[in-house]
Amino acid sequence: MKRIIAVFILIALLPVGFILFELNALTENEKIVREIYENQLDAILYSINQYSDDVMGSWANRFNIALMDENKVNDSLKGIPAVLNQFGAVRYLYCSDLNRTSKIFGLNTDQTDRKMSQDWLDSLTMQNRSRIQQLIAYDVAGFRKMELMDTANTTRALPVFFVLNEGTPTYRLAAMVIDLPEFIENTIGPKLQVIAQDKFVISAFRRDTNELIYSTDASAGPNTMLDNNESQKKSFWLLPGYYLSISLTGATIDDLVRDRMITSLIILGLLASILALGIWFLYRNIRREMSLAQAKSEFVSNVSHEIRTPLSLISMYAETLEMNRVTEEKKLEYQRVIAKEAARLSGIVNRILNFSQIQANKKKYETKPLHLNELVDEVLNSYFFHLRDKGFTCELIKEENLKMILGDRNAITEAFINLIDNAMKYSQDKKNITIRTGRDGNFNFVEVKDEGIGIAKKHQHEIFDQFYRAPTGDIHNTKGSGLGLTLVKKTMEAHHGKIKVESSPGNGSTFRLYFLVKKDPIE
Ligand code: ADP
Repeated sequence: MKRIIAVFILIALLPVGFILFELNALTENEKIVREIYENQLDAILYSINQYSDDVMGSWANRFNIALMDENKVNDSLKGIPAVLNQFGAVRYLYCSDLNRTSKIFGLNTDQTDRKMSQDWLDSLTMQNRSRIQQLIAYDVAGFRKMELMDTANTTRALPVFFVLNEGTPTYRLAAMVIDLPEFIENTIGPKLQVIAQDKFVISAFRRDTNELIYSTDASAGPNTMLDNNESQKKSFWLLPGYYLSISLTGATIDDLVRDRMITSLIILGLLASILALGIWFLYRNIRREMSLAQAKSEFVSNVSHEIRTPLSLISMYAETLEMNRVTEEKKLEYQRVIAKEAARLSGIVNRILNFSQIQANKKKYETKPLHLNELVDEVLNSYFFHLRDKGFTCELIKEENLKMILGDRNAITEAFINLIDNAMKYSQDKKNITIRTGRDGNFNFVEVKDEGIGIAKKHQHEIFDQFYRAPTGDIHNTKGSGLGLTLVKKTMEAHHGKIKVESSPGNGSTFRLYFLVKKDPIE
């Protein structure tokens, strides 16, 4: 049995293990998908950065062109004021000859602020000489590079330095002082909208405060925080104090993975339960088969034992008679014993034959209207002496107003006798049997009550199984085949009736046979 259980567990674990492995293998694939997705988002962020670089480059060009013709520098239609007007995010344009002369343009009329800004940009130019030299070297090589020369301060507009064309009179270096939130909102924002469409949410945040500057999601407020798990982040190249974040609208890859995982786990749980159920059924069947096999072998030894006693009595008395040395009186007694034992033998054989007929569904029942009280009387009349011989008292309580039932007289008689036999077999000192007939709804019943050894609750449903013999008391001294109650139950099923048992160990048992009352033809 242990080996069978071990095999079952192995059978159960194999598919579960396999499915778990599969589950893991799938998440590997999903990792690749997620990687691809992340790369895609990276590419989008890259293109946005590229775009903001391009925009600033084009602005720088415009300022450069405006500065080329010194006569038009102050022209509000073509000069610096016109360009400043056009690019609202640029607060000031600062120019320097890298020596002593610098100039600052701006639409802001606040002279103090303008002066302060110019001083600050002058000092930045002085401090970053080597970086500016580098910018010039790039320019000479034909490539305009722009650079933010301040620390990542996000509380004020920041200067983006670039080198002016060599053809520009007076000045060599310029800086656009840009209000970054405005730049992000008004210049980059529309581009973000185009890229994001309905598929992504792209947002720009301040790095120091994590404050939202702009988002393509209209419902996002200034206090919207970046969800670190769901989004991808990237700094602006030119504006290190700010970063971009991008995420999928609706379900993220993680959500999809989680959904699939949950579905898979539910299916796995269901499969495992079905498997466990199947194994439980299989285990129960095997256990039943094993106990049946054991019961069968016990049956063979029981029946042999039951047959041997009458056989040896018959042969012993037959041999004595054969010798013809006994008195007439004794002869008669021996013949009676032989007849009684032969009847017992045929009873046993009949029961086995009956059983095999019922098993093969070959048993034919001849149903006729019967009166239960009459049948009980008949049986008790012939059984009375037998009971008395064995020292039993038998009380009969009849319900006189019983209707007729439909049934096979022989089969019902046999079932009833079986119950009386059992009541006798399983009684010990208290040899009292009560037989009762009665009514219960649509049923008539006959019950056999004894005061014998009784049956434990846990065995009460098994006693109707074929070959089953309850392991109680001195059962091994009591002869039996374990077929009696099986036959009774089958007979009751064939009559659309039922059998009920009430019993407790030491307090006797009551077996009740219920038969459907025959319907009145008028009803
Ligand atoms: P058998 O009597 O040949 O063993 P049965 O099918 O008639 O087979 O009964 C099955 C088992 O039920 C018996 O072995 C016995 O343990 C139990 N049993 C049946 N009738 C009684 C009873 N009246 N009192 C106690 N135990 C009973």
